[in-house]
Amino acid sequence: MLYSTFGNKCSRCNEGDVFKCKNPYNLKRMFEMHTHCSHCGLKYEKETSFFYGAMYVSYAISSGWFMIWYALQNYLLNWDLLIFAFFVSGFILAVSPLTLRWSRIIWLNFFYKYKKEFSKKNKSTNFNTSQYAS
Ligand SMILES: [Zn+2]
Repeated sequence: MLYSTFGNKCSRCNEGDVFKCKNPYNLKRMFEMHTHCSHCGLKYEKETSFFYGAMYVSYAISSGWFMIWYALQNYLLNWDLLIFAFFVSGFILAVSPLTLRWSRIIWLNFFYKYKKEFSKKNKSTNFNTSQYAS
């Protein structure tokens, strides 16, 4: 799961890319995703608005960032509260393209767990995707 999340890889086979553009900060193309995994044929958006659920994950990631900074603020930084608020908002905004990617791929991972039989070794196999769609 970590590998696919940070490597922009299909959650089922860890081989095919999920997002078309490798750089999450290419803002024009940050929402462009492949419809299917190029390796195992997994359909990423299994139903319309499937990725709306990823918003919950992205919310969790943002809260996670906030908690990390809040802990740092309390124990190390002790900045002025206003400066801290600006900094954290800026930080969360700055990492939001990453958060978007991670949340969608983590969301994929909830539904399609990594399966060995889909990874490299079986590249020659012809997959029947409907059979494995949950
Ligand atoms: Zn795949």
